[in-house]
Amino acid sequence: MKNMSYSWMVCLAFVTMLGLLAPGARQTGLAMGSVIVESTNVTFDDRAAMFGSQLGDDGLVGKLMVIGDIEADNIDGCRRLATRMDSSESWIMLVERGGCGFVEKVRNMQASGAAAVLVGDPWYDMPITMYASGDTSDVHIPSSFVARSSYTGLRSAARNAHTPIEIKLVRNEYYELPFLDVLFITILSPLLMMGFIYVLYRLRLRQNRLRDLAPQDLVKSLPINTFNHAKYREGEPAECAICLDDFEDGDELRVLPCKHQYHALCIDRWLTTRKKFCPICKKSVCPSSESTPLLPARLRAFV
Ligand SMILES: [Zn+2]
Ligand SMILES: [Zn+2]
Repeated sequence: MKNMSYSWMVCLAFVTMLGLLAPGARQTGLAMGSVIVESTNVTFDDRAAMFGSQLGDDGLVGKLMVIGDIEADNIDGCRRLATRMDSSESWIMLVERGGCGFVEKVRNMQASGAAAVLVGDPWYDMPITMYASGDTSDVHIPSSFVARSSYTGLRSAARNAHTPIEIKLVRNEYYELPFLDVLFITILSPLLMMGFIYVLYRLRLRQNRLRDLAPQDLVKSLPINTFNHAKYREGEPAECAICLDDFEDGDELRVLPCKHQYHALCIDRWLTTRKKFCPICKKSVCPSSESTPLLPARLRAFV
């Protein structure tokens, strides 16, 4: 009963926590977007950062500048450009992932005159949402992450042109995770895990409990003695130490290996549902190999 109420308390706390988190989860969509090359209309996917400003409904048009092409040793944008760009033009700077934190790259490019920053992944084709801990209120330009295919596509488009190409960043609708996915991730999956842990816990309890009991067939194999008052000898117990009733002629008594005897019904129930020990002398009715050894097996071999 105590275990049950504890489990229910844990479940209740968990469900309450989900209730608190759920509204936040609904608002946290993934800001998917596109990078459009104006001259060709070739479109690449990007994903907005969690910091900096967000694009307005009209998006942002600017000239693409691949930082690695103008400063080969600063391809990752981990330091400011040697010369700040002319701020009369809107520059969208493309830097490579790695070397330093996302926000650091965006800060460096912001200080170098960027109107927006794209961070490209040279290794993986998996979009991620750029996140930064700490205060990022100084970042006031938008930035996005582009996975490998978009990154290489944008770089080739820039290299194939003689002058900086014009691109447009647009933000698509906030993409909400499908309802069933959210339900599974936030509720069902933790609940399944908790259910699994609870089943394991109950199995362990049951296992421990069975270890304390004597097996039915072993108990049934212990000898039975029919009580006969005429054969009673002075000093022998005349009552059952479990139910405290006097033995009567014809009572079936179970004789334990320690020679203590009880009503068969009383001791059978005791051994199979309470403890595998004799209630008087505490000696186990199970053979020593079935009781919990005091010494490990490798040491018992030497005893
Ligand atoms: Zn009894
Ligand atoms: Zn005994």
